[in-house]
Amino acid sequence: MSSIEKPSTVIGVDLDGVCGDFYGRMREIASEWFECPLDQLSREVSYGMTEWGVTGTNQYESLHRFAVTQRELFKTMRMIPGARKYLRMLSDEGYRIRIITHRLFIHYFHASAVQQTVEWLDSHGIPYWDLCFMKEKAQVGADIYLEDAPHNVTQLRERGLYTICFANSTNLHISSPRAASWNEVYDMVRDYRPQDHRVT
Ligand SMILES: [Mg+2]
Repeated sequence: MSSIEKPSTVIGVDLDGVCGDFYGRMREIASEWFECPLDQLSREVSYGMTEWGVTGTNQYESLHRFAVTQRELFKTMRMIPGARKYLRMLSDEGYRIRIITHRLFIHYFHASAVQQTVEWLDSHGIPYWDLCFMKEKAQVGADIYLEDAPHNVTQLRERGLYTICFANSTNLHISSPRAASWNEVYDMVRDYRPQDHRVT
């Protein structure tokens, strides 16, 4: 980098529910798990998937574990339309794409979780420079965060970090800035001016 070049703006990009259609794939797996027809499971699901009959944290974790270890959730979810195209455009324009995901939540399953993730990213042509497996996303140090989980959006914003909420049925109660599509994400990132979002 030459000295006159500005450092890149870092975009911290969540995977599940932002780049990958986590809830679409989980819905299919939940229909197997519960042995119920797919069309009985609403597409409008909330964060804990209670609409599908998930009754609490233990059951959520069991279903999630089944999905990841037995159905290769991280490798088999579909890409959310626009992720490839707009991340590539942003990357080409000099933004630094930093994937931040909390996927290492199953002990002793890390090799497979990481492998499923990197294979998915490569096979979908998602450009990125950094890949962070982190629960505490604020510690990663991005300029702009893109996130769908309601508690993560809230936590990041409480720390004064500019966070675009990627809209889905789990975060209807979260305020703007919200993006309903990758096209909107692109416009919001392009409009971002650091001086307007300085942490004090
Ligand atoms: Mg997410």
